[in-house]
Amino acid sequence: MNKELEILKKEVMKCTKCELYRNRTNTVFSDGPEETIVMFIGEGPGADEDREGIPFVGKAGQLMNKAFIGLGIDRQKVYIANIVKCRPPGNRTPEKAEADACLDYLKTQIKVVKPKIVVLLGNTALKNILGYEYGITSSRGKWIIKNDIKYMPTFHPSALLRDEKKKIEFWNDLKLVVEEMKSGRIEE
Ligand code: URA
Ligand code: SF4
Repeated sequence: MNKELEILKKEVMKCTKCELYRNRTNTVFSDGPEETIVMFIGEGPGADEDREGIPFVGKAGQLMNKAFIGLGIDRQKVYIANIVKCRPPGNRTPEKAEADACLDYLKTQIKVVKPKIVVLLGNTALKNILGYEYGITSSRGKWIIKNDIKYMPTFHPSALLRDEKKKIEFWNDLKLVVEEMKSGRIEE
């Protein structure tokens, strides 16, 4: 493993920078290779992720996996992480102070992994990465380019579990990501 990520992961495992550490079983650092083209950013671990220490392994993750298979995205080749590394109680949205406390870890992950494309899954990822002025309903499905990274905001897979109609938009947004990967505009 990349030395910087290895050290960071260990630091996260004993982190007490916000109150979320109190209820965690496991910290959830990442899934995927340490240097890659596409990174997915979610919100925070749910019960299954907290138990396993791996992001997006529960219901929402399984739905995302299905979309990946349908679209020809190899989950093994993308990097997956969250805004907060510890599970918010009852799956509530992380508070701004919690996201702020955790964000430096994610920023280092982005710096090391060097993605060309970052998929922002839902409002928590969008707002904490690009700014609180953004909203998922108006921003989803459109590229936002910042610091040489192409960001694609889309719905969080949990939102698709609550509202089936969002599935088509999620699918279309990820299709834009796949097209961009295949366009030749992105060098490996
Ligand atoms: N939801 C998230 O935002 N992240 C996970 O890892 C799982 C569910
Ligand atoms: Fe530390 Fe992040 Fe966990 Fe808070 S959520 S305790 S900042 S690792």
